[in-house]
Amino acid sequence: MSLRSVVKKASGQDVYICHACNDCDIPTRDEMDIPLSSLIQLVLLNDDEALQCRTLWSDYALEAARSACKRGLNLHAAMIALREESMRKAGD
Ligand code: SF4
Repeated sequence: MSLRSVVKKASGQDVYICHACNDCDIPTRDEMDIPLSSLIQLVLLNDDEALQCRTLWSDYALEAARSACKRGLNLHAAMIALREESMRKAGD
């Protein structure tokens, strides 16, 4: 299953509607290695780096993701789905 499908199934969020506007790019902190917009692009590319990047595990980014997307995507829910997928894969 693609990462897009994993996120959609677990959170109801279809990252396909992302237009790469970058409006969700909150100020980065040391604990983040990529911006939120890049995380979503990695999901669209089905790149497992989305599951391994430090931004996914930043609680600051997770909290900011609640209202970060200007197109109505719930990035907080998407990140939770990605964290769960990452932990599931780590347990395989
Ligand atoms: S604000 Fe929303 S639509 Fe724009 S890049 Fe971020 S996730 Fe994509």
